[in-house]
Order: sequence, then structure tokens, then C-alpha cells
Amino acid sequence: MLKPKTRFIIYNKNTIFEPDYSEERRPRKRARLEDEESDELAGLFRDSQYYDPKLSNACVVLAGDTLFRVKIDVLSKASHKLHAIVDGTELSGDRNPVRLDAEPDEFRALVWALYTSPDEIRSIKNTTHLSRLCSLAKISHAFRCTSQKSLALSALRDALDLPPFETCSSSNLHLLAETAVRCEAPILLDAIVSRWIKRIQRHEVPCVPAIISADALHIHRLSGAACYAHLQEVAEQSVADPDNGVTHLRLDSKLDSPQKLQLLAGYWSLVNYWERFRRSPTRFVCCSHDECANIWERCWGMALGAPKVLQASQVDVSGLIRLVRESLAAHNELKTMNAECRAKALQSLDDASDSLNANLGEHFTKSL
Ligand SMILES: [Zn+2]
Repeated sequence: MLKPKTRFIIYNKNTIFEPDYSEERRPRKRARLEDEESDELAGLFRDSQYYDPKLSNACVVLAGDTLFRVKIDVLSKASHKLHAIVDGTELSGDRNPVRLDAEPDEFRALVWALYTSPDEIRSIKNTTHLSRLCSLAKISHAFRCTSQKSLALSALRDALDLPPFETCSSSNLHLLAETAVRCEAPILLDAIVSRWIKRIQRHEVPCVPAIISADALHIHRLSGAACYAHLQEVAEQSVADPDNGVTHLRLDSKLDSPQKLQLLAGYWSLVNYWERFRRSPTRFVCCSHDECANIWERCWGMALGAPKVLQASQVDVSGLIRLVRESLAAHNELKTMNAECRAKALQSLDDASDSLNANLGEHFTKSL
């Protein structure tokens, strides 16, 4: 039987890889230079696509371990910062390249974009295109290539509603979020995080990579939603020993100790929240009817005793508030309440639910 393929690999706290099963790795065409050159060039490669030895008025650029040879004026036009770096570098070569603080993929994406039409840049058909755009956005931001950065970010924003994004893996979601953080693009980040959270809630992507990404990239909202969803999974999987009633907590081993502590802090805070919440009916705008408050209070007590509410997990506060609301909305006595006051009373539960969801991240504090 075939071993199931790994969905993602957590290399360290800041790096999550997705194994590339989509296509066979292309053989590296770029030639190692160490055989023909001195130790000085050992470990460097010439890029198979963008190292053209025949170009005139070109410079050799070293990004990471890869040498590129491209036209100086093409790079110069991209930004003032690049112009200042490559201007007058006609005599650069493999031994004295222009060194750029960029990854090979990033610089390759930039050169690709400089030779490509905007329509081609915007066209995203698969996750390989998605990662090239992320590389383009990051290097454009670093070297202030304004038009390439804006093209890349708007293409990424549009891509969020296309099939490659809708089904992409956690590692691609991490890449997108990391790109938005690096490029200081809060609106794009917000759009990515909203979609990521929806996919977690629909159980389309696992919670743990989202917790780790949120931690590494300091995305509070994602952290809250992912931790909350993970707590529900943990609660479902934790079964008490029938002999002694003990429940052993089993948290995912990919989480580090501070992250586990964060989950426990959230557990404690949410259960505590629910204990306080259920004690008194939510307040709604005062009215002039004597009976309204009494009816609300009586129905509140009965809704809390509904079997569905009693059986629900105490840590699923959002679900509990929803169940209480459903129970109250269906209650016959509540239907005797003034219609406007009843609507406001039920609205107070919706407001409580919105407020809880907006502040979920606060429950999962790391500063204990
Ligand atoms: Zn009233």
C-alpha cells in the first residue's frame, strides 16, 4: 500500500514547506561553476534562463547562490534604487558580480516581470504562478519597484477568488500571508486571513499550520480563530477514562511549548467567559414595559437548561451562544414579549457573539 503523502513539512518555526508533488522536479540546467573556476566561485550557479553571456551593456548579478546576466538599462528602469545599484556595472562578471540581497527565485521573478506584459503577469493558473508572484511582490517591495509591486499585489488580490487559491495548501496560505506582511499590505493580508479562517472553519485546511504561521507572522486574528478551532478538535478527541474519569490532554506534537500553553490559556479563559456569561441575561435597550425584563430573564434560564446547550462543549462558547439564541428565538413565552423589544433582546446575543469572535485572539494570550 502506498504511504500517504505528507501535506506539509514544518522545517522550523518560520518555515513551512509544501512538498512538490504536482510535477517532477525539473533537472537543474544551470551549470555549477566550481569545476571550471576557482574556489571563489564554488557553489554558485548560472541561471538557466536569465544568464545570457552574449548580451551587450549587461551586468552580472548574484542573488543567493545564482548568477544572472541581464541588461543594465532594463534593471535601471525598474526603480531608482536598482538604478543606483547597477549603474556603471558593465565590467561586472562572475568573479565580481553585483550582489543583491534577494533570493534567486525573487530576482528571477523580477527579471521575468521586466520582460513580460502586465496581462501575462496578472495571469495566475496554478500555485507555481502564485509563488512567482509572491517572489515578485517581495523583491519589488525591497527594491522599491513601484509598478511591479502594485501589479503583483493586485494580481495576488484577484487570485484570492480563483480556483488555485480556493484549494491551495496551508504552505501556500502561509506564503501569501508572509508576502502581504513583508510588503506591508494590510488590506491584502486581511483578505487572505479572512479566507484562511473560513477554510479552517469549514475543515478544509488543518488548524495547526495556521497556529504556527499566525505565531511566526504575528497575525492575532488568525491565531485566535485557529486556536479556537483546534481546541474544539482537541475537546472532541479527548475521551475520559471510564474507570477514574481522568482525561489526558493530547495536543499536536508540532506545536511548541509556548503554543501549547497558549491553547491552555485560551481554554481556561473561554470556559471562564461562559461561566460568567450564562449567569445573567444579556442586557438590551431599556423599554417602558414592565414585563419585558421578567420574560427575558425567565426564558434565559430555560434556554440554558435546554438539552442541546447542556450537552455542548463548554469551550465552544461561540456555539453555545448560538444555541441559546436558537432556543430563545423558538420559545413560546418570548413570543409574548413586545415584538420590538424581543428583536432587540435577541440582537443582544448576536452582538455578544460578534464581540466574542472579534476578540478571540485575546483569550489565547502567551504572556502568562
Ligand atoms: Zn419592552
